[in-house]
This record gives sequence, C-alpha cells and structure tokens, in this order.
Amino acid sequence: MTYLGAHLSSAGGFYKMGKAALKIGANTFQCFVRNPRGARAKAIDPADLGKLRALLAEEGFGPIVAHAPYIMNPCSKDEGIRELAERMMREDLALMEHLPGNYYNFHPGSHVGQGLETGCRLIAGMLDRVVGPEVHTTVLLETMAGKGSEVGGRFEDLRLILDLADCRERLGVCLDTCHVSDAGYDIVHDLDGVLEEFDRVVGLERLLAVHINDSLNPPGARKDRHALIGEGTLGTEAILRVITHPALKDLPFILETPTDDAGHGKEIAMLRERLGEGTLQER
Ligand code: FE
Ligand code: FE
Ligand code: ZN
Repeated sequence: MTYLGAHLSSAGGFYKMGKAALKIGANTFQCFVRNPRGARAKAIDPADLGKLRALLAEEGFGPIVAHAPYIMNPCSKDEGIRELAERMMREDLALMEHLPGNYYNFHPGSHVGQGLETGCRLIAGMLDRVVGPEVHTTVLLETMAGKGSEVGGRFEDLRLILDLADCRERLGVCLDTCHVSDAGYDIVHDLDGVLEEFDRVVGLERLLAVHINDSLNPPGARKDRHALIGEGTLGTEAILRVITHPALKDLPFILETPTDDAGHGKEIAMLRERLGEGTLQER
C-alpha cells in the first residue's frame, strides 16, 4: 500500500491528527508542530505524543513529516532571524524525539543578496549546531521553486549544503513536484531524466519524501503556486508517474494542495483508485 497523506490542519493535538489522517484514508501525514507563522512553540505533551506513536505503529503508517514554520530563514542577513530559526528547529526537534524515526522538513531559506555560497554556509552551520547525534529525526531539505533568492531551486544548492554540513548523514531531501517544475525541471515529459540528474547531483538515497502538488504555472516559472491534482500544469498522469516510479514508490507522498482535510481525502481516494488500492476504509 502506497504511503499517501496530506498536510493536515491542526486538529487540536497530535493523537487527534493521527485519527484525522485515518479518516481521510491516509497512512502518512504532514503537520506543523507549532504555529506556522508565529514563533511560539506549543508546550510538549508527552502523553498525547505517546498515543500518536502507538497509533502510527498499530495502523502501519509510513514515516510522518513535521514541517518547519514558513518564517524560518536560517540564511537571513539578520542575525536575530537566524537565531530564531535555530531556536525553532532545536525546539521542534526536541518535540520530535517523542516520535523518533520520522522526518522534519524545512525550506532552506532565502540568502537575500548574500550569495548562494554564503547562504549555504549559514544553513549548514545551523544544521551542525542543531542536528547532533542526540537527534533521532532525519532533517529534510525541501526542493524549492527558486523564487527570488531562495536556496534550493537547483539540486546543486542542496548538494552544496550537504557538502558543507558535517551532520549530512542525518539529512535527507524532500522533493516537491510543484517546486521542481516551477524551478525548471520537466517532470511531466522527462521524469527519468530529472531523477537521473537528482541522482548524479544529490544521490537518490537521500530522497526520503515527496510533496505531491500540481502547479498553477508552467515549468520554469519560479512562482510556487500549488494547484489541486489534475487542475494544474502537471496533471494527474504525471503525478501518478511520480508516485509509481520504481525509485520513489516506497516513499511517503504528501499532498499540499489548496484544499481542506476533506478535500485531501477526495484526492487520496482518487489516487488510490487509480493505483488500484481501494480506500483504506475498505481493507
Ligand atoms: Fe514546504
Ligand atoms: Fe512543499
Ligand atoms: Zn510550495
């Protein structure tokens, strides 16, 4: 059974989030572990996290993905913003120790005119201070659309961060289908070619999760506007080729399409039907 899920809206606790995932036919999910736009962390509730941990094991979930807040920018020009990024990641990873073996995904950030190399050095430096051997979560760099001075629009950006980080064995990559297409990688017509390039530059063994989103814009637009599956420039067939690709098929696939949990449930049902998997409820 393919690990399919969505970015869930907060359901008032982690156990409830697991239940919400089951309700929409998901066997993985993504969520924020704090307010996505604010900096304040929720208090850690070990009992709630323990219940989710048990539920994930019982129900045979694939790895789940915590998403760092959007405001995190570890390669900002502003030292205060960099320190905030570091503190947020450290706190989030402490929470994730209650869910060991899962993933924490973040946007590498925007170097805001400092240059790619400086940006990557700042990012790698933070990772080396935060992702020590005490961390049992794999931290994922997300492939980005390449908007403005965004780091991660080229596979080479991710390679540079990995090369600069001593903690690289605890790092991986999350490929976002909307972002890579917007960045100019033609996954609709040449998925094999794009994955070969990823393998050559980064290494496919580093690819641990996939965000499945359609895109409102054509390849290379560098825009980052997600669309519902089948309602963008990628199309349902291209998304299905991603999900079933031999190099990817065992990874968790997470929808970040512009809809709510119920809408994601419909997309998951449609994809499972196309995959010949029925819905989880029918098992
Ligand atoms: Fe993201
Ligand atoms: Fe994404
Ligand atoms: Zn995006």
